[in-house]
Amino acid sequence: MSKVRIYTLAKELGLENPKMLEILDGLGVSYKSVSSTIEEDTVELIRQIVDEENAAGGGTSAQSSAPITQSDEAAAAPSAPASQGTQSAAAGGQTATQTRQETAAASEVPHRAPVVTIMGHVDHGKTSLLDYIRKTRVAAKEAGGITQHVGAFEAQTSKGKIVFIDTPGHEAFTTIRARGANVADIAIIVIAADDSLMPQTREAIAHAQAAKVPMIIAINKMDLPQANPDKVKTDLTQLNLVPEEYGGDLIVVPVSAKTGEGVEDLLEYISLNAELEDLRADPKGKFAGVIIEGKVDKQAGVLATVMVQEGTLHVGDFLVVGENYGKIKAMTDSAGARIKEAGPSTPVQILGFSEVPTSGEKVSSAKNEHAAREVIAGRASDRRDAENAQVQRKLTLEEMMGP
Ligand code: GDP
Ligand code: MG
Repeated sequence: MSKVRIYTLAKELGLENPKMLEILDGLGVSYKSVSSTIEEDTVELIRQIVDEENAAGGGTSAQSSAPITQSDEAAAAPSAPASQGTQSAAAGGQTATQTRQETAAASEVPHRAPVVTIMGHVDHGKTSLLDYIRKTRVAAKEAGGITQHVGAFEAQTSKGKIVFIDTPGHEAFTTIRARGANVADIAIIVIAADDSLMPQTREAIAHAQAAKVPMIIAINKMDLPQANPDKVKTDLTQLNLVPEEYGGDLIVVPVSAKTGEGVEDLLEYISLNAELEDLRADPKGKFAGVIIEGKVDKQAGVLATVMVQEGTLHVGDFLVVGENYGKIKAMTDSAGARIKEAGPSTPVQILGFSEVPTSGEKVSSAKNEHAAREVIAGRASDRRDAENAQVQRKLTLEEMMGP
């Protein structure tokens, strides 16, 4: 046996990746990502640790450890009177443990699906790759469902849902970012294997770096005879982006949007990365979202695609975008099915705004129509104040300069 990838070992031992990294940290082993390889003797050591932990009580969580810990804690707790007998101390210990468990459960914010954006040079295969994923990973729509382009879709994988923003190119990313919103968790940079790095590839990389969004490189068109993935990797190294196999931490996945080769691996890497990022959002929290796309439909009227980031949207909710508000009359998911509510990392198309919102605008909710109007009135007055201040400044400057 030789070197083993961290996530492979984690899978084999039935551990979550973060837990595996915790063990490695504990051992002082350095790694770059879950796909880094570790030495044979470290692998042995980890196997032993996991075996011992399993033998010690079958759990990796602190709560399931021996009862001694509980009474120790009760004794150490300042509220436990010193005169208490062994029995009541044990009982006190139990209560403390229970409280701790309840607190942990209450504060546990659930995981959410990763939101992925695909960028790269024109003709390198962004649309083809998205089409392949959509064709193979999105459940077929019910007959009669209207196929609407909403700017995002949800792909089902063996590791759970992945949300793709399919408003192609950098525009989506940059207009959204220009408004101060960050909607993507991971950026896939598509590079054609027969063309290597091109101006828009460098631009895309720069955008992802500026937004501090983790990147995964997909070397596309691997089916072509002239495909040269090594050149792509060498060119990346010149940008200080060092692929894993060259000792760096950049994940590079060879794929073909034509044959589907490597797409499964790509999805797997996205899920692994999401797990590492530990993405969470509270479906019960205050709603927050971002406009992905807004448009006018001849029949339906104004349609807006909103990415739910926190909280849950319901039909009937009042939403505020900039200085406009709307009441959700109807909501559909990205596959076109009518839905009544939508939680974090869900792209939804909403009917109910009177003005077309712009991509990247932040969306919040209001208790009722009155509250929505108040928020808007506040924003309008802030804006007027800012405008007046600017006019004043200009006047003063003109006065100073004289006639
Ligand atoms: P985009 O501009 O990045 O969205 O690129 P497209 O998806 O429109 O692809 C540009 C061209 O490359 C089209 O003619 C595609 O058929 C072709 N193409 C995309 N992916 C592949 C691939 O994996 N293999 C081959 N042979 N052709 C591809
Ligand atoms: Mg395209």
